[in-house]
Amino acid sequence: MSPSPALSEPFYCGCETEPEQGALLSVDGALRRALALAVPVTETERLPLDRAHGLVLAEAVRADVSLPLFDNSAMDGYAVRLADFSGDGPWRLRLAGRVAAGDAGDMPVPAGATLRIFTGAAIPPGCDAVVIQELTRQEGETIEIRRRPEPGENIRRAGEDLAFGSELLPAGRRLGPRAAALLASAGCGDVAVKRRVRIAYFSTGSELRSPGAVLAPGQIWNANRYHLAGVLDLPWIETIDMGSVPDRPDLLQQTLEQASRQADMVVTTGGVSVGDEDHMPAVLRAAGGEIHVMKVAIKPGKPLVIGRIGAARYLGLPGNPVSAFVIWHVIGMRIAQALAGIVETDPPRILVRAGFERPRRSGRCEFLPARLGSHDGHGTRTVEIATSEVSHRVALLAQADGLLLIPSETDRIQRGDMLEFLPFSDG
Ligand code: AMP
Ligand code: MG
Repeated sequence: MSPSPALSEPFYCGCETEPEQGALLSVDGALRRALALAVPVTETERLPLDRAHGLVLAEAVRADVSLPLFDNSAMDGYAVRLADFSGDGPWRLRLAGRVAAGDAGDMPVPAGATLRIFTGAAIPPGCDAVVIQELTRQEGETIEIRRRPEPGENIRRAGEDLAFGSELLPAGRRLGPRAAALLASAGCGDVAVKRRVRIAYFSTGSELRSPGAVLAPGQIWNANRYHLAGVLDLPWIETIDMGSVPDRPDLLQQTLEQASRQADMVVTTGGVSVGDEDHMPAVLRAAGGEIHVMKVAIKPGKPLVIGRIGAARYLGLPGNPVSAFVIWHVIGMRIAQALAGIVETDPPRILVRAGFERPRRSGRCEFLPARLGSHDGHGTRTVEIATSEVSHRVALLAQADGLLLIPSETDRIQRGDMLEFLPFSDG
């Protein structure tokens, strides 16, 4: 089993983890509880490299060769033997042949001779330097060299890049393009990967219709379904789209149970706060599920549910699309990654400087959609709160470059304050 993420370190603002009676649970506390539930999938399969893109390595991969495999030329030029450079130059060597990348490179070089050699070609036996072609002059079959080469000049030695037996990639690493290139260069034609995490999702709300549909009064178009379909569209996730369910407890329970039988994780949107039409907590309990987290000191998105039902983990996101997005980004994705056995789950963060001022009420850790501004010349970006002519919150989210993390105790943001920023990577 892959190592579980370090559960003792702070994740976001590091605020206290266990709430007083009745108080909200901190973001870090909620995430800690969520990750404690997220046992990585154990099933693995061996796949050819070209079918394993984006999947999670089930075991560490070690090099069973050293690289480069053989001494080879770093440049186009002439392979020479230093023994032929006695006395003062210039020296004249007879051109005895050529060796290109892919040739066996076992052609003997007679004394006083040289071979034309190209980048990547094996160094012929007995040769100990490559003189680049720019430092030579050819006259018929004779190559004139004016400067004495250094031993090993322009030769990439066998084994100098990578030692036999060294760890190429750890278990839990996603096989991205760079990782795939490394494995391919070391000759690994197939890898053991974890099976994809199955995530079932559905939206809740009697008001929801598909975009494109004609709306009756009181109805709205479903945004969250498309958000989730997008964020779950990853090689290591297998999605199960359970559609959109009206606010009817019987239908919600039926869909939830059906989803939990097929999936490692069930994600829903809407219906998790305290209104009469917020059925998900009761439905989860009625279906035999457990609630581990209910209210979190996070803005936006306070009402959310983390729990389990059968063998599946449950995440109930708020219905408000911005809240749903933020909670998915901050908590949901990390649960999914932990289930997948991905080790590096900490989302990238950069330090930025506030380009705005704002009073705020302390007590909740805030993730504010924000845009990156100019560089200050020392590598720090300023950050601006996303603003737009339309003050539509989903539009602001779509225009943002990431989420600005404002620690729970902060009661005022001053221009120039250094803050953490979680850049979006999805465009
Ligand atoms: P709820 O959490 O179900 O009370 O929903 C909170 C708000 O978000 C309400 O205004 C809902 O109409 C809205 N909402 C819920 N689900 C969605 C969705 N899938 N797409 C767009 N808006 C939604
Ligand atoms: Mg609702």
